[in-house]
Formats: sequence, structure tokens, C-alpha cells
Amino acid sequence: MPNDIILEIRSLKKYFAAGSRGWFSRRERFVHAVDGVDLQLRRGEVIALVGESGCGKSTLALTLMLLEEASEGSILFEGKDITRASPQERKALRQRIQMVFQDPYESLNPTQTIEEIVSEPLAVHGLTPNANERRERVIRALEDAGLKPAADYLYRYPHQLSGGQRQRVVIAGALVLEPHLLIADEPVSMLDVSIRAEIINLLADLRQTRGISVIFITHDLGTVGYFADRVAVMYLGRIVEIGTMREVLQDPKHPYTQALLSVIPVPNPRLRRKRIILQGETPNPIDLPGGCRFHPRCPLAIEACKHTDPSLIKISSSHQAACLLLQP
Ligand code: SF4
Repeated sequence: MPNDIILEIRSLKKYFAAGSRGWFSRRERFVHAVDGVDLQLRRGEVIALVGESGCGKSTLALTLMLLEEASEGSILFEGKDITRASPQERKALRQRIQMVFQDPYESLNPTQTIEEIVSEPLAVHGLTPNANERRERVIRALEDAGLKPAADYLYRYPHQLSGGQRQRVVIAGALVLEPHLLIADEPVSMLDVSIRAEIINLLADLRQTRGISVIFITHDLGTVGYFADRVAVMYLGRIVEIGTMREVLQDPKHPYTQALLSVIPVPNPRLRRKRIILQGETPNPIDLPGGCRFHPRCPLAIEACKHTDPSLIKISSSHQAACLLLQP
């Protein structure tokens, strides 16, 4: 594993038991939430993980945080296989891998001051028993999260802050442990549109100020903008397209990515995109369709798509997509 690779995911699978097929069947069924994901993340890189709800991106995040146990495959973090880490190792890893959840209203204890909230992870991990040093770390985390001057926020309560400020407090609570990897699961989806760009810019700045790698999870390709280095598009537990932001946004190769992009509003009224409306619902992840799992909804599907499951095909050194139409 090269030194600049902070995270490597190899053939990762996470299945959940979903009971047997019927009264008389003993065959166990499984939800294939994550179904063979390979991914590498470099130090200081921001990658956006995009897909509709139910595509497995949040389960992937929880598995990377070791909050869910992988069914198969492995996770290497900073050169070490952490897939089956012991409880003590997991606790130590949580200092280096932090997660920001979607809902800033649910994530904060309403009875605690901002200082108590942000300093709590230090106490949980037994760090900085010295009160002055602890406060310094809280202040630095709040200011790096954009709450300046931090002294104005220390004694406030969550209900005295706006939605955007609360999400900054959540981010400060993650930063206070000085993590190397931040996993942000839909961090802006519950915020006003006017505030979303601020939080996205903040996450992008963190790699400059702190050198943090970020996995930014979203259902909306439109929120990604140009802030991420790469985009990985997930469908039914797998990555179906991955490439640099420019490659994926300007020249999407997979029909699913093309459909996601086609419905993003374009600010220029003279530039009109043909909207691709996908038919039907995402298939049940218990009974996955044979062949290409996107074929029941794919507007370009051909007969072979019902029988052949495409793997990722290389388009350039950084761009890959899983579609039979791309085969040479
Ligand atoms: Fe569509 Fe077939 Fe390509 Fe799958 S392999 S994305 S069904 S064209």
C-alpha cells in the first residue's frame, strides 16, 4: 500500500440477514447493502460518494467506521488491516476516523453548552486532562469549523444557534480529536440551500488547513459541485462509475450517472439538458436482478444486459465505469 494511500477498501461486502424465503424454506435471504466495493483514498483527498437512497453508501460509511461488521473483504487504514479490529483498537481508530451525520438537530445534546459538547470526545478518549489545554483544543476546533471568535459560542446552547452553526459544532466535535479521515454522511441535506455551500466549502478547506481526507456522501450530484477531487457513483451496493470530478460531471459514461446528472438544474437557461427520467423503482436489494443490476431501469439496455454482469471498465487512468456498452 503506497504511503500516500490513507484508506484502501478491497472487495468489501456487507449483507444483512432478511429471514428465510418462506414457511417451508430454510434458505436464508440477505440484503446486499454493500456488494463488492473497491476504493482507494489518498491523503488530503476529497471523494464524493453519490447515489440514490438505499444504494448502500451509508452502510458503506458505517462499515468503514467499524460500526457495522464487514461480511467479506477488507479495510486497510494507514497501511493496517482494521476489518476485524478489537474493541480497544476500534476506540483508538475513532480518534483518527470521525463521522459527521446528517442531522445537526439530533446530533447535539440540548442540555449541554457548546464547550461541553465539543470537549466530550476528548473526555471519552481520555485525552487532555489539563483544563487549559482542553479549552485550547476546543477553541481551535470551533474556529477551524468557522465559528469565530470561538469565545462567543462556548457558553451557548444548541437551540441558540442556526442550523448551519449547529452543523459547524458537529464538525468541531469531530475535528477536536484531530482525525485523519472525515466521513460526512449527507452533511448538508437538512440545511437551507443558502447554507449548504458554506458547509461544503468548509469541508473542502479542511484538507488545506488540516490535511484531512474526506468522504462526502450525498444523494444529490448537484451538491458536489467541483469541490471533490473524485466522484464515485453507487448503485445497489456497487460503484458503477468512478473518476475525477471533471471526468464524471463533464463526460459521464454510465447511463445511471447520465440520468442523475440530467436532472440537475443548470443555472444558464440557454443550456438545456435532456432530462432522463428513470422508470420504475430501485430493485429490492434482497432479490437482485440477474445480469447488470441496472438493466430493469436502464434506457439503453440490450438483451445481453439481462445475462452479463459488467465489471468496471477502464476509460482512462482515473476514469472507470461498469457498462457493457463500453466494452471494446
Ligand atoms: Fe445499461 Fe446494459 Fe450498460 Fe447495464 S450494461 S448500464 S443495462 S447498457
